[in-house]
Amino acid sequence: MKQTIASHHIGGQQVIDSSLRALPPLQSPVDGSPLGVVHVAGRAVVDRAVLSAENAFQSWSIVPVKDRVQVLYRFKALVEKCIGDLAKQVTAENGKTTAESAAGIQRGIEIVEYAASLPQLFAGEILEVSTGVDCYTRRFPLGVVAGITPFNFPAMVPMWMFPMAIACGNSFILKPSEQVPFTPLLLADLLKESGLPDGVFNVVQGDRETVEAVLDHPGVAAAAFVGSTAVAKAVYDRGIAANKRMLTLGGAKNHLIVVPDADPVITAKNVVSSAVGCAGQRCMAASVMIAVGDCDAIIAAIENEMRGLACGSEIGAIISPKARERIEGYIGRAAARGAKVRLDGRNQSPAGKEHGNYVGPTLIDGITVEDECASDEIFGPVLSILRVKTLDEALALENANPYGNAACIYTTSGATARYFEMRAEAGMIGVNIGVPVPRDPFGFGGWNASKFGPGDITGRDAIGFWTKTKKVTAKWTAKSTSWMS
Ligand code: NAD
Repeated sequence: MKQTIASHHIGGQQVIDSSLRALPPLQSPVDGSPLGVVHVAGRAVVDRAVLSAENAFQSWSIVPVKDRVQVLYRFKALVEKCIGDLAKQVTAENGKTTAESAAGIQRGIEIVEYAASLPQLFAGEILEVSTGVDCYTRRFPLGVVAGITPFNFPAMVPMWMFPMAIACGNSFILKPSEQVPFTPLLLADLLKESGLPDGVFNVVQGDRETVEAVLDHPGVAAAAFVGSTAVAKAVYDRGIAANKRMLTLGGAKNHLIVVPDADPVITAKNVVSSAVGCAGQRCMAASVMIAVGDCDAIIAAIENEMRGLACGSEIGAIISPKARERIEGYIGRAAARGAKVRLDGRNQSPAGKEHGNYVGPTLIDGITVEDECASDEIFGPVLSILRVKTLDEALALENANPYGNAACIYTTSGATARYFEMRAEAGMIGVNIGVPVPRDPFGFGGWNASKFGPGDITGRDAIGFWTKTKKVTAKWTAKSTSWMS
């Protein structure tokens, strides 16, 4: 059978080179239907993309920012018009529900809006530093920059990066996850239709080989990465060694702390949607709930809420059979160790989707701190419960985990919330919110093993990441001339 090839997108054109190494054909996580195949870009394709981006940079970088962002206004309108088709594509290759796909794209649109406001944010500063001497700054783009993205948000995570990068005047090379290569090509088409000059946005498809070719390329000035922690660290080190500006976001193990005064209804609904939304495949997902004191009624409500969710419709698919096996392994070993599996999501086969990859909502009670479910990023719809006596114990457990993406508390006491918020070791804190994604102008970014490099990937910090400043010190001494006075 002829396979659809996920093309590269270079200089505004689809590029297909069938002589490249092919990855195993992709199948939709939803139902196993064939999606296509990725041919891995190596050095030659990456060279071509960098050359095209360098050429485009010469003229794009000198377009005034007010004119550059006009492309983003048109792009936003097109994404809104096509959101249904985009969401269908995200669902086909990633497996999440179409409502979740659309919500991710919607969040991407918000970033486009923020980037489109760049003329209001881009101005430099000026100060008279001594008599007749002014210091001022100007921002400049870096040149050709890159983004390397994971499978779990095929549209949104690239949109964390390229709108701001190109609004700042850079040209951009995206290396999407080889598991979701098609959505970025739709975005590339929409950018072209929006009037973005060819070569300002490029896509190179592939795996580690492609990433390394991008990181090693002397023509690439900076790269942002989002993915798992081990890869984030390796990519950061390799990029820094090649003298690039780097920001890499890694994995997570997010703890939600529930205290006995929490509102049971709000808490149950919110904890469940954090843990099982996007089938638990998001870096902001709740993975461990730490119950402080007697939270039995809330835990019963959580179980009840989870039990009512239909796998295959309300809970989307897991990205691959391998990922599904991995998640089921955690559940099986927890059961074997004697944890109380209150809801077991293994062995799901929703009608009509028997060839898809599904794990149902899973609730594991009574784990210990030593348990792998307490420490590993499971990346599936699995919520484990740790029980402690005090909030300080809960904070100590949360803070001992090496990640630091999100941490949340459920309480009706402002004082308790503030006590937690000041002490939790994470970059994004939720109070009665289980997926505390900061919205622009606030930036998205964790702490500790969840992020390498300074600043956040979105919000105000993104402007600093994608630009360099020039500091000018100028002294003008007026000479007396006949026409001045
Ligand atoms: P991944 O690390 O396997 O892949 C991410 C990207 O890196 C892909 O483009 C992939 O091709 C590339 N890659 C994989 N192995 C590589 C290697 N050895 N060298 C160089 N490049 C390599 O991540 P994933 O499975 O696609 O995504 C899930 C992970 O991403 C989870 O850990 C999740 O927490 C994390 N994530 C983090 C955030 C965040 O904001 N912190 C957001 C989304 C996802």
